[in-house]
Amino acid sequence: MKPAFSLCVYCGSRTGDDPAFAALAEQVGTWIGSHGGQLVYGGGRNGLMGIVADATLASGGRVIGVIPKALVEKEWAHTGCTELHVVDTMHERKRIMADHADAFLALPGGIGTLEEFFEVWTWRQLGYHAKPVGLLNLDGYYDHLLAFLKASVHHGFMSDWQMALISVGDDPQRLLPLLVEVAGLASEAVRLDQI
Ligand code: AMP
Repeated sequence: MKPAFSLCVYCGSRTGDDPAFAALAEQVGTWIGSHGGQLVYGGGRNGLMGIVADATLASGGRVIGVIPKALVEKEWAHTGCTELHVVDTMHERKRIMADHADAFLALPGGIGTLEEFFEVWTWRQLGYHAKPVGLLNLDGYYDHLLAFLKASVHHGFMSDWQMALISVGDDPQRLLPLLVEVAGLASEAVRLDQI
């Protein structure tokens, strides 16, 4: 059966210093699976990546992992994915992930997560896609980044319009349905007016 929606999640290959990050990843995966959705992600088994994938699978969702061969050789792949695409390059990986997604969401993470988030945001501002892009700012994790972006607007290197292209929230129960609804895929189960 076709999934209700397909959400690409970028997140840490580590779990961070606070169990709240792992709890968030679990909540996001459970939400995807329990709403008939599909997770698209980097195919790793470590950190928040593995947690979000396991929680999606455990709640009945599909998981598409897209991972470069070099990372599989390091035994970093999650072999329990519904579909695991092993690709040659990082560029191919990103394209396949983006093609399979209706919306993008970054959870807390490090440089890999940031790079992926900024890339889809940049593609959005240039019109390469029109899919919603979200940032889950759990417990202020991204406050310094958001403050920097505001400074960039202040200094004239960014515009309010660019900032308005991303949806930032600290509550997955509000941000997830918003992304799905903006992607135009809201089913009865995820209608914003019902939460
Ligand atoms: P980071 O935030 O630096 O931990 O990097 C996480 C992001 O980069 C993920 O969304 C993945 O796409 C990619 N990545 C980094 N490390 C791994 C790994 N061990 N296995 C699979 N993907 C990874």
